[in-house]
Formats: sequence, structure tokens, C-alpha cells
Amino acid sequence: MSRAVVALGANLGDRGSTLRAAAEAISALPGVRPVASSREVESVAVTLDGPDTSKPRYRNAVVVVDTELEPQELLDALHGIEDDHGRTREVRWGDRTLDLDLVAYDDRSIDTATLTVPHPRAGERAFVLAPWLDADPDAVLPGAGPVTDLLAVVGDDTERVDEPRLFDEPARASRPATAPDGRTGAAS
Ligand code: ATP
Ligand code: CA
Ligand code: CA
Repeated sequence: MSRAVVALGANLGDRGSTLRAAAEAISALPGVRPVASSREVESVAVTLDGPDTSKPRYRNAVVVVDTELEPQELLDALHGIEDDHGRTREVRWGDRTLDLDLVAYDDRSIDTATLTVPHPRAGERAFVLAPWLDADPDAVLPGAGPVTDLLAVVGDDTERVDEPRLFDEPARASRPATAPDGRTGAAS
């Protein structure tokens, strides 16, 4: 089993419903088991020309899964889920109904024509880091460091959406109320 982190984003259509359906679809993939999910954040669209307030705003979230799929197999499956939600690719960083990026896969470094892991821009994107930290307070971006530190450097310009986590994962419920180091489990 490997652990994978997937970033979800949408700025067209019913964004919240799409993110929820996508998280469900990811969890239901053969060889994939849900581990943790974030709540949603909202932020301004970023295009090739920079932030653009005239574009529909993004909703983003992160899910953490355990998987038997190889990284490229997982990415192919994620692309299938994007297609199911009408994802089209016209302009780089253009508006989209659903974007699913593989942020990390264990601590592996992968660089092929179709897949770079860790995702090369994850560490500079608050809309990835903030929900990832929400899903996993101990998250570490391989090769870059603790997500909490990275987010402090980048600055969190996202707004938390007042909705539940994308899925209610069994792992969270069964975690001890108090961690061995004495921290309460409420935030984790
Ligand atoms: P960005 O990668 O900056 O977030 P994007 O998500 O808009 O941009 P897409 O058009 O969705 O980019 O993807 C372009 C290609 O990126 C995909 O066809 C895929 O093969 C490749 N790719 C490389 N590494 C990854 C990764 N870690 N996760 C998702 N796609 C990746
Ligand atoms: Ca992306
Ligand atoms: Ca993508």
C-alpha cells in the first residue's frame, strides 16, 4: 500500500457538489482506500496572467488515500473522473469543472513526460497547502518540508467554506482522542 495525496479544484458548475462526487469516486476506485479529506477552501482564479477577479472563483480541497495503484495508474484514473465531470482542456490554467492533481505519492520522486511527483507547484499554492493541512495536520511535502511551514511562507489567502469534510473517513473517527504526546485529537 502507498499513500497518495490528491488535490481537487473546480471553478465552473456546482463546484461543491463536483468536489464531493469526485472525492467519492476517488475513494471508490478499485485499489484505493480513503484515509482523510479536507473541508473546502475558496480563492481567486489564477490564470497565466496572474490572479483574475473577473473569472469564477475556485473551490479546492484535498483527499488522502491509500492505494495499490501505481502513480501513473492513479493519474489515469483521476483523468477518467475529470472526464466524467466534463473536464475540457483548451487554455492552460483556464476555467474548469474539475481538476485532479496528484500532489504526492509516498515520498517518491517521479519525472516522466506525463507525471511529475511531487506536483512541482504544490508547495507555492495556498489552495493546495491549506486544505492538505486541514486533512492532515502532520503533512509533509516530500523534498520541501512540513506543509504548515510552507503555508506560513506562502501566506494563506484562501477562505474556508462552511461545509463538512468531503468524506467522513473511518480513520479520523477511530483515532485516539488524545495523541501519545498529549495533544488533543480534536484538531487532527
Ligand atoms: P498545474 O499542473 O499547474 O496544476 P493544470 O492542472 O491546469 O496545471 P492540466 O491541464 O490539468 O494542468 O494537466 C496537464 C498535464 O499535467 C496532464 O495531462 C498530466 O499528464 C500532467 N501532470 C504531470 N504531473 C502531474 C501531476 N502530479 N498531477 C496531475 N497531472 C500531472
Ligand atoms: Ca492543477
Ligand atoms: Ca491538472
